[in-house]
Parts: sequence; structure tokens; C-alpha cells
Amino acid sequence: MSKSIELAIIGSGIAGVSAAVYARRSGLDFVIFEEKGIGGQLLLMENIDNYVGLPLNTKGNDLAKELATTLEDLEIRPINQGITKIKMDEKAAILQAKDCDYKAKSLIVASGASFRRLGVSGETEFLGKGVSYCAVCDGFFFKGKDVAVIGGGNTAVEEALYLSEIANRVTLVHRRDQLRAIEYLQKDLFKKPNIEVLFDSVVKEIKGSELMGEVIIENTKSRREQSLSLQGLFIAIGISPNTDIFADSVSVDKDGFIVTDEHMRTSCEFVWAAGDCRKRPLRQLITAASEGAIATMSVYKYLRGHYISS
Ligand SMILES: Cc1cc2nc3c(=O)[nH]c(=O)nc-3n(C[C@H](O)[C@H](O)[C@H](O)COP(=O)(O)OP(=O)(O)OC[C@H]3O[C@@H](n4cnc5c(N)ncnc54)[C@H](O)[C@@H]3O)c2cc1C
Repeated sequence: MSKSIELAIIGSGIAGVSAAVYARRSGLDFVIFEEKGIGGQLLLMENIDNYVGLPLNTKGNDLAKELATTLEDLEIRPINQGITKIKMDEKAAILQAKDCDYKAKSLIVASGASFRRLGVSGETEFLGKGVSYCAVCDGFFFKGKDVAVIGGGNTAVEEALYLSEIANRVTLVHRRDQLRAIEYLQKDLFKKPNIEVLFDSVVKEIKGSELMGEVIIENTKSRREQSLSLQGLFIAIGISPNTDIFADSVSVDKDGFIVTDEHMRTSCEFVWAAGDCRKRPLRQLITAASEGAIATMSVYKYLRGHYISS
């Protein structure tokens, strides 16, 4: 079966939901696809303290629920399916969902990003058995245990601080000789008596039997290895874009982020991108939401034949 539509939106994180809201208000015939849950990364987040208009300490989950309510109020029903394949013909994108193909005259990619992996032995084997990419989601399971966080940016330091309130001891392992995290976070980190920082250090191997129990760390300067006895390992080394299926159709940068102009137009005439899947200087909720809106308004002008200045 195949359906023709004016616009397909892939992803119902804040960028995709924002695009959908503007699409409804513009009267476009559109569908929005989501393979997991409405809200995307919001579902992994503890507090939001930097979104204008929201009270401090708003929970990520609560904003995700609000997004779902907004969609319901506007009678937008996301199709709960992942798009696994995409083909471009001359003037449309053909999207393969589980039970139907969609031929879309325009496409907004709002597929977001996922946690970057270390790529060491044991990482996949012990995922969910000690290895995690989200302290807010899994920290609870490590009450009173010894854990490590890998990374040196804001997320890694925030995760170490969060875990220091739950775990017995937290080791922050960073490959360079100084952290990249913002100064006030570093100040908080170095005040914590149960956090130790290992600089110039990388994970070589994650070991255990049924559960993870040991992590081998190498000092990048001395090449000396040490074994840490740990029950939890939180990997916070950044994100990579969910763009594999689009990479043949639109230009991406060396890390796979989709390249757009200020109207969110990609190198393909009928494809736009918004949010964390796109190359942009600030990966935040507020920028993702605004880009979703910009993308839809640009799509609207394209579909209705209005002029867009470059
Ligand atoms: C732990 C954490 C804390 C953060 N804290 C803050 C903060 O305090 N303030 C702030 O502003 N930002 C914060 N951020 C960043 C912010 O969450 C992101 O910038 C924002 O959520 C990106 O939204 P998005 O819609 O672009 O992508 P996402 O939220 O990643 O949503 C993309 C959606 O697309 C879906 N999808 C992907 N591929 C497909 C497919 N093929 N088919 C169907 N669906 C698909 C995914 O399942 C997902 O739901 C944080 C992020 C994390 C992980």
C-alpha cells in the first residue's frame, strides 16, 4: 500500500513536534513518525533549567507529556513506527514504514541524536548490566555502589555530580589533561569528596561475568594500565546524529550531521532538517523547537510556490 502526502515529519522530539504544530496551523496534509516515545531526548533528562517560560526544575518527562498533550489537542496522531528506508525520486521522498509506503512531496528530518559509543570490548555485552548512557535514567540502580563516568564535557560532569548523591564513589575518567565542562560545574565537581578525576585516561576494556565488575583504564601518557573494581559505568562522550538512512540523500558533515541553510533546507530540494540531527552551533531544546517551526514555514512556502530568499 502507498499513501501520498504533502509533508512527512520524522521524529517527535521537540523539533518534530514543533514542526507538526506549525504544519497543522498551516493546513498542510502531513504525518509524523516516531519509533520510540514522544519527546525524544526529553525522556532522558532530569531537570530543564534553561528554557524560557518554563519554571526552574521542570522535569524532562513533564515537558514530554505536555508535547503529547499538544499533539492530542491538535488531533495530530503520530504514527508509532520507525522509518527504516528512504528513497528519493525526482520530486518526492518515498518512506518505508512497517505496513505502508508514504510518498511525501516534502520531508522534515527531525530524527535527533543518540549517545556516542566508546567502541571497546564489553560495552555492548554489559549494556544494561552495568554499562549505561544515562545517569538520570539508570543512576537509581547504583545506590551505594562504585561507579565511573567517562567524558569531560558538561554532560559528563553533570552526570558525575548527579551520581555522587546516589553512589558510594564516582570516578570521572577523561582522556585529556583538563575538563571541557563549564567552570561552575567544575567547581562543584572538585568540591565533592566522593568524586575522583582521572585525567589522561581511557577505557580499554569492560569485564565481568553476569554483570559488569571491572574496568581496565589506560593512562595515555605513561601507557600504564589499572583495573578499577566498578559496578556501574556511565558513558557521556557526546552524541551522534540519527541520520544513517538519510546520508545518501542529503549532504552531511564528517560526523553525519545534516547540513542546512538558515531556512533548514538541505541539499535536496524537498528535504529539510531540524534539531539535533542537523549541523548547528547549539544543541538545545530551544533551538530545536525554533528550527522545527522554521522548517515547516519554509516547507509551506515551497509547497505553495512562495518565494524564499536565500
Ligand atoms: C541527558 C540530557 C540532558 C539535556 N539537558 C538539556 C537541558 O537542560 N536544556 C536543553 O535545552 N537541552 C538539553 N539537552 C539537549 C536537548 O534534549 C536536545 O537538544 C533536544 O531534545 C533535541 O531535540 P530533537 O527533537 O532535535 O531530537 P530528539 O529529542 O533526539 O528526538 C528525535 C526523535 O526522533 C525519533 N526518530 C529517530 N529516527 C527515527 C526514524 N527513523 N523513524 C521514526 N522516528 C525516529 C527518535 O526516536 C526521537 O524520539 C539534553 C539532552 C540530554 C540527552
